[in-house]
Amino acid sequence: MKKYILSIDQGTTSTRAILFDKKGEIVASAQEEIGCFYPHDGWVEQDAIDIWLSVLAVINELLIKANLTLKNIDCIGITNQRETAIVWDKKTGMPVYNAIVWQSRQSTAICDALKDKKELIHQKTGLIINPYFSASKVRFILDHIKDGQKRAEKGELLFGTVDTWILYKLTNGNVHATDVSNASRTLLYNIHTLKWDDELLALFNIPKIMLPKVCPSSYLYGLSEFFNTSVPITGIAGDQQAALFGQMCLSKGSCKNTYGTGCFLLMNTGSKPVISKNGLLTTIAWQIDNKVTYALEGSVYIGGAAVQWLRDQMKMISTAAESEDVALSVTTNNHIYIVPAFVGLGSPYWDDKARGAVFGLTRSANRAHFVRATLESIAFQSKDVFKVMKEETGVELKTIKVDGGATANNYLMQFQSDILNATIKVPHILETTALGVCYLAGLKTGYFGSTTEIRKIHQYDRQFKPKMSEVDRVRKYKNWKRAVAATRQFI
Ligand code: ADP
Repeated sequence: MKKYILSIDQGTTSTRAILFDKKGEIVASAQEEIGCFYPHDGWVEQDAIDIWLSVLAVINELLIKANLTLKNIDCIGITNQRETAIVWDKKTGMPVYNAIVWQSRQSTAICDALKDKKELIHQKTGLIINPYFSASKVRFILDHIKDGQKRAEKGELLFGTVDTWILYKLTNGNVHATDVSNASRTLLYNIHTLKWDDELLALFNIPKIMLPKVCPSSYLYGLSEFFNTSVPITGIAGDQQAALFGQMCLSKGSCKNTYGTGCFLLMNTGSKPVISKNGLLTTIAWQIDNKVTYALEGSVYIGGAAVQWLRDQMKMISTAAESEDVALSVTTNNHIYIVPAFVGLGSPYWDDKARGAVFGLTRSANRAHFVRATLESIAFQSKDVFKVMKEETGVELKTIKVDGGATANNYLMQFQSDILNATIKVPHILETTALGVCYLAGLKTGYFGSTTEIRKIHQYDRQFKPKMSEVDRVRKYKNWKRAVAATRQFI
């Protein structure tokens, strides 16, 4: 009987199920949107039951579409939106509060109260103290339900990130576990000792008894128990780390950039964590057997979202794809620089107060220059992050693997290659997140013999090589830096 790997990719806006074959090709996929609630300004929540039901729905739809049963599934991999926190009742398996989504700022005050512990937290977790990560969200939940702390201490409540929640539900409550990559985003996990850290738990007053067991990313977690068939669940990784694996960035110094709503840049730093001095995050990429691989991570808040802004707010284009033709209808940016700091600036600036700006407007400036400058801003922001990564690791980036919706834009990709002076490679399968966890799961069961075998099947479709002169590259980037500095002056 022909067998496939089922990847569950639970993201913030949708849940996807994708079936992969031995060649790493997509056989079938199904997707369901999932909604968010915004109870107050800056709060973002989801219904954890909705998340679970969406997982069941996409698996069902996928099997029906592919005309297969669970007997055709070799193993399951789970990849997920990271940091989102769920707390549920151990007895009933029901959530006690909505899932608090990674973007949510509702636990800001909890983080602010711990500002003087910033250095300790950074050294232990590789992260910064910020409501983005799970710990303060768990604290918030325990503070906002009846007897939260007491119940948690008695072992009546369980915490999990989305992977843990799905795993718990798929195994009918038998397995309460997570993988190292997800644990490393909670602010509670010590990335050096590879343990939940008592000192950090005490800071947030979170009882250890409610935390999941932490396991390798490629590991037999347990058996799914539904539709009368048991399927091994053998891979778990947070979405960005899974994408790094799915891009086959397996050696130290290799990196990927995802151009979605925002941009997420990760570099494999090998077996040792590099603690950043310039606002990058240190995280665990994955663990296979006893071998832990670390990564440095930087993010750009507004990537493809700048193109959406051109389309929806500025009405300069009617589709995202049109931005390429419009940008290419002129030969320069006409000295226009746009800094899309709509919600502040991410790495390496971490400037929440900055707001967007346009520089260099003249009478000859037109829509096409504006569109071109916006696309260029995505590449410039990514270069800012790459530059810090290079400074901190000493690694000269010659090749960058990319994925995400905006990689469809050839002008953007060529400009990125030019401004970085590096080769850009676009993979054949753009679903790198699901593919990454498919690889991790399949390595455990022997569906894939080794990473060497995977490298052989892994393909790239498009490639961009730098064509810009060094003089232009330096001049343009200098102008960009001046534009960012000026933007930050205007608050
Ligand atoms: P996410 O996973 O964050 O939802 P996706 O990877 O689906 O993001 O990418 C969607 C983003 O890509 C949108 O912000 C959209 O504006 C941008 N995008 C899609 N196609 C293009 C294109 N051809 N040129 C530029 N940007 C694009």
